[in-house]
Amino acid sequence: MLQLERVYKSYRRGPQRIDALKGVDLSVEAPCFCGVMGPSGSGKTTLLQLIAGLDRPDEGRVVVDNIDLAGLSESKLSAFRRRSVGIIFQQYNLISTLSGRQNIALPGVLDRRPRQWIDRRVDELVEQLGIADRASHRPDALSGGEQQRMAIARALLLRPSVLLADEPTGALDSTSSDLLWQLLADLARQQQITVLMVTHEPAAAIHCHRVFVLADGSVRGQFEVDRNDASNLATRYQQLSG
Ligand code: ADP
Ligand code: MG
Repeated sequence: MLQLERVYKSYRRGPQRIDALKGVDLSVEAPCFCGVMGPSGSGKTTLLQLIAGLDRPDEGRVVVDNIDLAGLSESKLSAFRRRSVGIIFQQYNLISTLSGRQNIALPGVLDRRPRQWIDRRVDELVEQLGIADRASHRPDALSGGEQQRMAIARALLLRPSVLLADEPTGALDSTSSDLLWQLLADLARQQQITVLMVTHEPAAAIHCHRVFVLADGSVRGQFEVDRNDASNLATRYQQLSG
């Protein structure tokens, strides 16, 4: 499903070199709802960007759905970004001048899918995600939770096998956050997709099946989540990240 082997990535800021990822190993074998926890600056967003094919590692291998990203030309990589992975962010990144439906349809338009195919797929998704009656509105007429579900629908339009979520509830209240985590867990279970959610909140990670802990640019460990034991999760996280 998802394999990262000895992945390195550094950035340049003026004369300074910042090592964001220092040899990340991570493997997800079967569809699941996985969390990536780590303190701010630990490299979580960088990791998602490499998996999404938005950037390339300096060293190491990134394999998604049996596709080794290093071997892809720019045009193949851009098709990979559209079709094989979906990504959502804390800020929903919807286009404010388009309706919900138009936003969701966008990847289909860019991928030159037939109009009918797109319309049917949008219908299916808004129904699945419980936003059918909101979909004709523009983003600014929607609640944060509704906007995030629109963003999820857009991310899933082309049926990716991996959905990446970068602190997806960072701008939501606790009730909407809870609903969103349940939705992501349901998607992973029912649609056989791997959801990889970056978070620093134990309240979010408790919904995951498995958690990887990232600290200072490398994966320090992983553990299975017991949904009924939030304090164990917090303790494991602290042990591994500290
Ligand atoms: P996280 O998402 O866990 O907060 P990031 O992956 O965003 O961590 O960042 C990891 C490190 O890399 C941080 O020190 C950050 O400042 C740095 N960094 C991230 N993106 C860039 C960039 N485009 N240019 C320079 N430094 C960056
Ligand atoms: Mg981040």
